[in-house]
Amino acid sequence: MKKLNSLLIATVLAGGVFYSCENASVDPLDEPVSMETLSKIESMGFSTEGVIRFESGYLVENDIYLTETDLSIANKGTKIPTLEQYSTNNLVCGPRTITVYAPTGRKGYSAGMIAGLDLAIARYNAQNLSLTFQRVTSSNADIVFTRLSKRDERRGVLGSAGFPTNSCEPYGQIKMSGILESSYGLSTGGIATIIGHEMGHCIGFRHTDYFDRSISCGGGTANEGDGGVGANHIPGTPTGATANAKSWMLACTDGSDRPFNNDDKTALDYLY
Ligand SMILES: [Zn+2]
Repeated sequence: MKKLNSLLIATVLAGGVFYSCENASVDPLDEPVSMETLSKIESMGFSTEGVIRFESGYLVENDIYLTETDLSIANKGTKIPTLEQYSTNNLVCGPRTITVYAPTGRKGYSAGMIAGLDLAIARYNAQNLSLTFQRVTSSNADIVFTRLSKRDERRGVLGSAGFPTNSCEPYGQIKMSGILESSYGLSTGGIATIIGHEMGHCIGFRHTDYFDRSISCGGGTANEGDGGVGANHIPGTPTGATANAKSWMLACTDGSDRPFNNDDKTALDYLY
């Protein structure tokens, strides 16, 4: 996920303006993403709007990390209808406990960030799903959080994740900003929403407004396509996402607290 640079945060929070990749400020030293790469991303069905270089690959859809390898093996995507709540083809096989580790201390996360993580975990566990999350103090965990680079934190990246493997495992790494509290002043609930969003990708959730990111991100209509990883409508969830429904899996965040709404709960319950 991305948000506006810190100079604009006061405006964002005061005016309720949604921050997104379209509006994000990007370090001018960034090399532009090549046309060849953009056309690969497009042929997978992802939007090419706001794609940035990230780590050893690219961030698409605000927070999905695609490596060069992902790009080289991806299937061609197809556009799908405008319904709410989507999952990838690969899901985590349950019942099982997914352990989560986030470092603390100088190079890790503040107490406020960890409180957000714990709240995100508690929200999932309160749904009595076949998946249970548990925070552990060993880095030998199913999902490991690592701090973004200072450069990425400064340029407004909030977090990144990916989708489950084809062997039933959750995506194993969430790269997360450590400054959601200290620089952006988000509440514990706001932090839990963003962390819970990245955890949602790790267990196979795509963006609620995946068929039209402009619902939460503003800007022009943009269908992300199925990205070659699948975008399967989850039965029982309504057609047409709205920003007002405040799903935790909307593509863009305004930094507010978005606990699971009824449709989110239906979707979680259906998958797990
Ligand atoms: Zn996302």
